[in-house]
Amino acid sequence: MSYLDSSVPPIRERRHPETALAHGATRCGQGPKRAVCAIMAQADRSFTQGSICPLLPALGIMTSLPETVVLLHGAVGCGACANGNNVNIRAGRAARGQPGQDALWLSTTLTEINVINGGEERLAEALVAADQAYHPKVILAVSGCLPGVIGDDLDAVAAQTQPRVQAKILPVHCEGFKSRFMATAYDVVYHAVGRGLLPDQSTGPKDPLAVNVMNVGSMGLVDEKELARLLGELGLKANFFPVFADPDSFELATRARVSISVCPTHDDYFLEHLREKFGVPYIIKHMPIGIKNTSQWLISLGQELGLAKEARALAKKEEAELERALAEFRPLFAGRTAFVSAGEYRSLATALLLRELGFKILAIRSFHIDSFAEVELAKLDQTGDFILNVANVQPFEEANLIKKLQPDIFLGHWHGNSTAARLGVPTQVIYNSGHAYIGYQGVYDLARRLHRRLSHPEFYARLGRYAHLPYRPGWYEEEAFSHIREAQS
Ligand code: SF4
Repeated sequence: MSYLDSSVPPIRERRHPETALAHGATRCGQGPKRAVCAIMAQADRSFTQGSICPLLPALGIMTSLPETVVLLHGAVGCGACANGNNVNIRAGRAARGQPGQDALWLSTTLTEINVINGGEERLAEALVAADQAYHPKVILAVSGCLPGVIGDDLDAVAAQTQPRVQAKILPVHCEGFKSRFMATAYDVVYHAVGRGLLPDQSTGPKDPLAVNVMNVGSMGLVDEKELARLLGELGLKANFFPVFADPDSFELATRARVSISVCPTHDDYFLEHLREKFGVPYIIKHMPIGIKNTSQWLISLGQELGLAKEARALAKKEEAELERALAEFRPLFAGRTAFVSAGEYRSLATALLLRELGFKILAIRSFHIDSFAEVELAKLDQTGDFILNVANVQPFEEANLIKKLQPDIFLGHWHGNSTAARLGVPTQVIYNSGHAYIGYQGVYDLARRLHRRLSHPEFYARLGRYAHLPYRPGWYEEEAFSHIREAQS
């Protein structure tokens, strides 16, 4: 039985019980196997500064779908994180020439009265009102914590209201309290898409040249063009899902020759469904960030399609051209130190990329770690020691580490870089969907930006002298991971 036969998707804790969100240690002296086992030991913290609700990445994907209304069924404020992502939606739509501008999301704004009387009636009214006001193709009815607690039946309301609504209503179960792993968000969205936007069976023959490339919210059109360029060199055609994909286009995913993931932790739920139900095989191995990783990603696709020789030749040509372009940056990078902070795969792949550029990796902070990370950790283990901090938003640990390690550069998300910046460390945004980051082009663009940043560190030095963080001086004397409690085996 497929997970998609059930109306509610399983949480990551159940589907990937090895997933961990608390770990702090150097990798020194630990073989990959042993280290991963230690991480998987379900450690936790005695103090938690924050966490990430799965709604954050889920809304990032859902609000990108054109001609779609996201209706948040929850309390006031639930889902407000969508506003912070609006710049990506606006820029992404404009770049793709899609209709509409801002991310379109509404809320049923449940109150104390609804907690007592239930919110189902309010949800039904809101579905009808959203349909009449915006005439979308799809309404994603998203359940936050509150309906989950009071027991509103999202699926029953959607089914009962559907005859009164032109748009297709897709229930999305994303109650934040259910899972501590934000990666649950990907499964939640794919579950809704798989149940609501895919046909019961393929609607036509397979397209021998079509490749489903599973994109992520943290890559922009410029990255998609780079991957489409590389596939084009092999005579293949890239169909990008799910971010910014038209709801009517998901049917094409069932007719592709193969699917390939850009971020393994993002996609396994959906790719397995496409394989099981529609016979579309998939590759879920590497993230095309960095020189070798991009080549491996490309070659693994070539091997699947009988184009291994062509893919190897292409990778060799691209690497040689890139190497010539990187030559002017390398002298400044040699021996410089870096701290990387991001989601699981991007942080590990970026660390590998930085080592290819000549940096020494001091530490990696990853939001979570699961079995998908084993391959990348093994690659990193072969090329030196570093501190691995698994933390779903714990800036106090990060501040402690940065103060002690004093890296030359910190790469993190735009909303998380202020900790390092206020400690006087130059920062580089790890993704900006307007900048290239993926593929060979992404390596060059990141190298160019890092070179500029390291050539002019004065701003950060001055910021570090005058800006402050909220931690008492004694915290920096303590061990950064003193609040992590490793589970006893
Ligand atoms: S789903 Fe729950 S945890 Fe997430 S924003 Fe809403 S109320 Fe907060």
